[in-house]
Amino acid sequence: MILLVQFTMTRIRGRKKKRILSLRAYISRRNIESLLSQALKEGIRGNICLAEELGQIARKLGKITGVKIPKIYKYFYCKQCKSLIIPGKTMVVRLRTNRTSHIVIRCLKCGYIKRIPIKSRGR
Ligand SMILES: [Zn+2]
Repeated sequence: MILLVQFTMTRIRGRKKKRILSLRAYISRRNIESLLSQALKEGIRGNICLAEELGQIARKLGKITGVKIPKIYKYFYCKQCKSLIIPGKTMVVRLRTNRTSHIVIRCLKCGYIKRIPIKSRGR
């Protein structure tokens, strides 16, 4: 499936190229989603090495084809060491409520801390 994405498009121009590019983006988006869901499953099962590898492949695929990684999966990437982190294995998730309530995600590989504020609904 991944090989299908990497065909060259040197001679194709115009409308046809646009159509092929959108098809390529569609295929790679689906590939990325399936890769990441599989990576998380493997990570939870205990295969952290395999999960990290799958995460790297998904990231590379997104970079080549210009497809952004889905918003939900952005929390599973460490900003500093750029690797996939698995909740309960290489990632610690906590809720804090001093000042404003926020979620704290800590990477156990490099110690990077990411804070995500929780928007309170106005009543
Ligand atoms: Zn990290």
